Amino acid sequence: MPHANPGIHHVKVGEAVVTALNDGQFDADTAWVTGLAAPEAEAMLRDSFRVLPPRITVSCFLVEIAGRRVMVDAGGGGAMGGLLGHAGARLAAIGVDPKSIDTVLVTHAHVDHVNGLVTADGAAVFANAELVINAAETGFWLDKSVQAQAPESAQAYFGIAQRALAPYEKRMRLVKDGEEVLPGIAAVHLPGHTPGHTGWRLSSGRDTLLIWGDVVHLPGLQFARPEAGMAFDIDGDLGRASRARALDMVATDRLLLTGMHLDFPTFGHVRRAGTGYAFEPLVWAPTESGLFAQG
Ligand SMILES: [Zn+2]
Repeated sequence: MPHANPGIHHVKVGEAVVTALNDGQFDADTAWVTGLAAPEAEAMLRDSFRVLPPRITVSCFLVEIAGRRVMVDAGGGGAMGGLLGHAGARLAAIGVDPKSIDTVLVTHAHVDHVNGLVTADGAAVFANAELVINAAETGFWLDKSVQAQAPESAQAYFGIAQRALAPYEKRMRLVKDGEEVLPGIAAVHLPGHTPGHTGWRLSSGRDTLLIWGDVVHLPGLQFARPEAGMAFDIDGDLGRASRARALDMVATDRLLLTGMHLDFPTFGHVRRAGTGYAFEPLVWAPTESGLFAQG
């Protein structure tokens, strides 16, 4: 049987339509997990019926609100062979021309989020879009003095971020925590994974959705054990603090949540469970509205 799920999932948030676009999946390694011993991580993944080695799902999002088309991240483009880079085909499948995108919100400048911003030739995929990113993110990746102090192993990441952001340089808007970047969309700075790592909070009508970026990479582990991080978190302790804060916020405020590395189709709620949290996938419904009003 071919793929039963087209990697496209629409959800209504107030008046906005948010579409998850699956970009692909790649193999991770429990050796990347920090703050939790590998055997325990493997046992938890087995208990939650995940494959080993674990796979990291990658998605990006299209938000259609008030006549605007907004992308949130752009997937990995051609960076990992055929594993990633499917978001463009998903957009095409729903009839959305990348040239019609008004704004691109970037959570952070890691390869699986920004490499899809550019073609193989380095041209802008979203040729007419303004790019919105946290000032702390560009202040890190685009600063040659920061790069000069980074270890050899990190140099490739600087190159990828700089190449992906370059064609947007003249139409880039740098924002900070809490700033409303578009009507109903505000920046939520969640630093640690990267310095400017930012979630985007979308409010429309009575509904609120947090698109949180890389707070969780392995849903089978990190909701139950939020102290678990990933080796590529630039500041693991700060990332842990941001994860604790984000989880507390979405659970307390009963926000709808999505993220680039949540299991497709990515949307759900978070509740407290024992010493950690549990993710409750949003139950599919055939109707277009009134799905998540929390009263
Ligand atoms: Zn990522």
